Amino acid sequence: MNFSLIVDTFEQMEQTSSRLALTDYLVSLLKRTPSDIIDKVIYLIQGKVCPDFEGIELGLAEKMAIRALAQSAGVDVPIIEEIYRKTGDLGDAAKEVAKLKNQTTLFDDKMTVERVYSTLDKIARTLGPGSQEAKLRLVSSLLNNATPRESRYIMKFVMGTLRLGIADYSVMDALALAFTEDKSNRNTLENAYNVSSDLGAIAKLLSTTGLESVKSLQITLFKPIRPMLAERASISEEALGKMGRKAAAEYKLDGERIQVHKNKEKVELFSRRLEKITDHYPDVAEAIKSIRVDEAILEAEVVAINTNTDEFLPFQELMHRRRKYGIKLAVENYPVVMNFFDVLYIDGDNKTSLTYIHRRKILEKIIKGSHNEKLRLVPQTIVEKSEQIDKFMASAIENGCEGLMIKQLTSTYRAGSRASAWLKLKREYRSDIADTLDLVITGALYGRGRRVGRYGALLLGAYDSKSDIFRSTCKVGTGFTDQLLEELYNNLENHLITHRHARVDTGMEMDVWFEPKIVIEIIASEITLSPSHTAAMNSIRLGYGLALRFPKFTGKIRYDKKPEDATDIEELVSLYKKQMRTITGGR
Ligand code: AMP
Repeated sequence: MNFSLIVDTFEQMEQTSSRLALTDYLVSLLKRTPSDIIDKVIYLIQGKVCPDFEGIELGLAEKMAIRALAQSAGVDVPIIEEIYRKTGDLGDAAKEVAKLKNQTTLFDDKMTVERVYSTLDKIARTLGPGSQEAKLRLVSSLLNNATPRESRYIMKFVMGTLRLGIADYSVMDALALAFTEDKSNRNTLENAYNVSSDLGAIAKLLSTTGLESVKSLQITLFKPIRPMLAERASISEEALGKMGRKAAAEYKLDGERIQVHKNKEKVELFSRRLEKITDHYPDVAEAIKSIRVDEAILEAEVVAINTNTDEFLPFQELMHRRRKYGIKLAVENYPVVMNFFDVLYIDGDNKTSLTYIHRRKILEKIIKGSHNEKLRLVPQTIVEKSEQIDKFMASAIENGCEGLMIKQLTSTYRAGSRASAWLKLKREYRSDIADTLDLVITGALYGRGRRVGRYGALLLGAYDSKSDIFRSTCKVGTGFTDQLLEELYNNLENHLITHRHARVDTGMEMDVWFEPKIVIEIIASEITLSPSHTAAMNSIRLGYGLALRFPKFTGKIRYDKKPEDATDIEELVSLYKKQMRTITGGR
């Protein structure tokens, strides 16, 4: 397959501001992709070489990429650095450099997707001493035969700066349309995705053996399962009502969600985003070995802890574990414990179709049997009265938790779904909206005064899952410390684009736009109607969306959340309605 086909499609996708066009371009690309490499094309669309859970990154240092460009063009490094300074992006620089190259270079050897992929894959898998030099040689050999437009994308892949901003759901829509001509088959793909988290593998099954084989996909050890998610409730009475008056209440710990996979030989840990993060918690991986079953998939919240007092510490402490180097010291300085709350698979048996009560029993037996103080059970109690919930909430807060999770006793584990079988009940905040919102950064205005050279306000969007679009709901400029502002600025630089992204909808004019990627946590005093913010546009009043009043950043950048995990428009509408009921006294 010619790589130029991918280049043409990606260029079109980067330029469009229409969400529908994005899917159309993908469908047409997938239809023209041979079955034997469709998995690879899917990974490339996502800017990767394999699913996240394999934990393989291209990882070429910027300095090396510049040297690779210099080598392929036969010029000195300072010349490349100058071009890079002007273009501001190494992909664009690669395009310019390729144009400079001897115009007589014949591109008769057409660049194929197979070649690009296999070289990228080699780059990603080249590790250890001397690997950067080896990676450099691989990149420059690829660039040697690439056209300027191809060079731009090769460099974007290598540097991880491809900014298509495509969600997994859009890829599934496109797959359903391309191979079954029926978008509703996305549900089948989604079910398979929920238990395998590998869109490339699903695409390959679909294109080679059809939809039926996709339906029969099973849970496999070391392929993470998409996590079950919770809806929110604001008071204990509401939570109990939704549960049929009897439920389990568990502490909602303020840490990082981890899915543990183990067999006799190894242990792997996956984040909530299903990235392999075993390296961040080598102490945890070691402790898991004391669990006495041959094979298991378990879920837990890892929390930082003060070992003198046994108190839980806030989520921010875990940031010290997010590092490649110096992890040994971080393990010593920032001890953690695992708090298990679910079991999904044991010794060849899928446990997700068992009830909560049944799963909890199995979990208790396994964790208690491990006799390891780093492995604990999430504190839990069965409740039938709202006063019991309130009391348990008070003890949770006292112990440094965010609130409670209320879980239905008879519910199965619904992978990948946000179901009312799990409710999160957070502690009351003093703001009028009794909860935080997780919103996606989509644009920004430049700062003035102290914030010159930084962003003054960020445009935030809630997720409209029905149309896979982020619709604006506020601008936020408060709650930022200098350090957080710096961190966000550096992160956002990687997602800067020249126009409003096709998956972003707003009536606001911004100085800069971003690919929707970064999620931050916000509190606000109130939700109001707004003609310029487009979240829930027309759903309460014609011509009005919902906006947050006095929004404030809580200081939490939600690295653990994908943009699609942000607060949904429907949640926003229900929060608005709840607020109105409170104001009008329930009338
Ligand atoms: P939120 O991130 O606010 O949507 O809340 C859901 C998250 O709470 C989950 O993804 C877990 O990381 C975390 N959590 C803490 N304690 C529990 C628990 N007992 N059961 C399930 N999730 C929990």
